[in-house]
Amino acid sequence: MKRLVPVLKQDGVNTDLIMLIRTILAASKEIAFRVSQGALAGVLGSTLDENIQGEVQKKLDVLSNQLLKDMLLDDDSVSAIASEEEDSVVGVNPHGQFIVAFDPLDGSSNIDINGQIGTIFTIYNAREDVEFDSELQFAQKGRDQVCAGYVLYGPSTLLVLSTGGPTRCFTLDLTHGGYLLTEEALSIPKDNKEFAVNMANYRYWDAKTQKFFDQILYSNKDYAKASMRWNAAMVGDVHRVLTRGGVFLYPADSRPGIENGKIRLLYEANPLAMLVENAGGVAYSGSNSILDIEPTSLHQRVPVAMGSVINVKQYETNTSLMNIKSSLN
Ligand code: MG
Ligand code: MG
Repeated sequence: MKRLVPVLKQDGVNTDLIMLIRTILAASKEIAFRVSQGALAGVLGSTLDENIQGEVQKKLDVLSNQLLKDMLLDDDSVSAIASEEEDSVVGVNPHGQFIVAFDPLDGSSNIDINGQIGTIFTIYNAREDVEFDSELQFAQKGRDQVCAGYVLYGPSTLLVLSTGGPTRCFTLDLTHGGYLLTEEALSIPKDNKEFAVNMANYRYWDAKTQKFFDQILYSNKDYAKASMRWNAAMVGDVHRVLTRGGVFLYPADSRPGIENGKIRLLYEANPLAMLVENAGGVAYSGSNSILDIEPTSLHQRVPVAMGSVINVKQYETNTSLMNIKSSLN
């Protein structure tokens, strides 16, 4: 099995970017170890503080954020970092060539139940036309990402990564501490009737979204074999979609603060959209590709539908399966 670095070299990734990816992954291995220790490491439970998103911070959220931040602060190739757990941009090196954003621990409500959690990260080239630590560094479209990935802390620790080419999957080999290539190129089937959505939010959805699910649940023969899967950790749900297709949805709803859905553009939607698109799927926000959204703020949220092309298009356009299949041919 191939190791990570030779694979990245073979993909033509430049040495500075490879080193930066290794920095992020060094932090991920430490997080994986703490996660595996669970209550033994004293990292479960809440800190009773809230993050910028108004969510209660878990100890492991704070610890993971600190680990990533400390390692990136020591990396001269980094100009600035942004994290879901930080109020504002953290400047690193005025001459750094990259910026990094991350959700240090996605799905953290799963920590206390020993469920799937993960670290999501994204790398862009630093802009030369704005200050090195300006928020505007991160006002880049998802299409401009030079690398996107996540580490999923499940029964095994997986790295899913794209540097612009295929979405590849690596598994952490605990015997030597490195990531080994276990899937050359993930490929999302065009059609799969599995959907991942929090159905309990039905009452808050707009008429279009309610109608789509009414059809799935009660009438549409296209969805006779539909099945719902919901991990409540986007990274785990999107990993399933990347592995065997289906659709992950987090629509806008009428609750205060969720008018644009719950998923953050910078830390979650963009990196996962890049991985999904590079595995042959689609990732939409309304009728636009997520990767084409012009960011307006650091912690911006966007409605999300990503996964198998046929199922995502059917949701976004509300047309019949037959019409979509014929438009794809
Ligand atoms: Mg998250
Ligand atoms: Mg998080």
